[in-house]
Amino acid sequence: LKINVTEIDIPCAFGPAFEGERVRGGDLFGQMGGGKTQCTELVKMAEMSEIEDGKVNVVGKDIGDMKEGETLPLGIYVQIAGREFQPDFEPIMERQIHHLINYIQGIMHIGQRDISWVRISKAAVEKGFTLKDIGVVLHAKFHQDFQKIVDKVQVTLFTNQDDVDKLTARARAEYKTRDERVDTMTDEDVETFYSCSLCQSFAPSHVCTVSPERTGLCGAYNWMDCKASFEINPTGPNQPVKKGKVLDAKLGRFEGVDEFIKGASKGAIDTYNFYSMVQAPMTTCGCCECIAAMLPSCNGIMTVGRDYAGETPSGMKFTTLAGVMGGGASSPGFVGHSKFNITQGKFILGDGGLLRMVWMPKMLKEELRDRLNKRGEEMGVKNFADLIADETVGITEEEILPWLQEKGHPALSMEALIG
Ligand code: SF4
Ligand code: ZN
Repeated sequence: LKINVTEIDIPCAFGPAFEGERVRGGDLFGQMGGGKTQCTELVKMAEMSEIEDGKVNVVGKDIGDMKEGETLPLGIYVQIAGREFQPDFEPIMERQIHHLINYIQGIMHIGQRDISWVRISKAAVEKGFTLKDIGVVLHAKFHQDFQKIVDKVQVTLFTNQDDVDKLTARARAEYKTRDERVDTMTDEDVETFYSCSLCQSFAPSHVCTVSPERTGLCGAYNWMDCKASFEINPTGPNQPVKKGKVLDAKLGRFEGVDEFIKGASKGAIDTYNFYSMVQAPMTTCGCCECIAAMLPSCNGIMTVGRDYAGETPSGMKFTTLAGVMGGGASSPGFVGHSKFNITQGKFILGDGGLLRMVWMPKMLKEELRDRLNKRGEEMGVKNFADLIADETVGITEEEILPWLQEKGHPALSMEALIG
């Protein structure tokens, strides 16, 4: 028996029309995540007997317990059961949370995974919005949009710090397992990449192309996920893209990809390179986990993650970079990418690869330390993480350059970054 949910029983208007709507300072009632508190999303498969379809639990404070201007931690935990459901579908369902929450009038959602951000407007609260409505929406839309694979959906919303921390620890282990599924694959192994156009509603000219060695810039979709998504929904946002003739092996330019993006961006973009941020980089949307920028006086590059709020040697904070780059354009000298992509084999390989990295926020460097060292060693440099400057060394090129020289950073003796 398949359940059809057509009505979405929430007090606010709902639909794609509200997706691009912002919740600005003056309209803001309260928020979760966005660097103020932890906000994490996790979708997990469940046994049919384990969950109750349509059950939505809010564990901890809800909107009614908040005062204007307050923040709450939030954990969105979705359990899905279905005869046709597979664990491979978890990341795909999880990525829907972003646009589905944005469909609620007066609610804004940014980011994904453990760096999500939910902003709730005063207007939505006046209409009677509560956190439970997030669960109501996810239950209804998952049934509606994924009938083939979904039989039961149960949603739990955690707002106690302890519960959110526990969910976050569990989610991070899940993200790691998902990311590592493409670890042994290379771009040469496959004839087909996958497009992702999920973000075009925000950034119309933006088309992610996801290859085994370049996960989506949101970090939430890798090649395996896009492949599974295409299998579930053959006319959906993830289409196979034949690589076709290799036009430039070093920069990562493919005839088939160029043809595809010309059409998918409606002519706005006619080419981009997979492995370069200097020359015709891939387009960037506002979801990116990190943004890389050139640091010409260090002959290298830096990258900054969404979760670092401070200044960077590029002269811009993450939010400023995202504001300039995140509209779907290809901006030479900058590129949005996922955290995981930094240590994938093809990361800006056309510009010299990972060894160009001269600065990262300490937090990101520590998170990736083992992988940075492993990839560094493959490229001939031991303990590479120790050669990358961070904010404790400096936040301008002038401050970090002497430190890099002292450490003998490999970027300093590479060919000039800009020819
Ligand atoms: Fe898809 Fe790219 Fe958006 Fe991620 S950032 S959801 S891969 S279009
Ligand atoms: Zn996006």
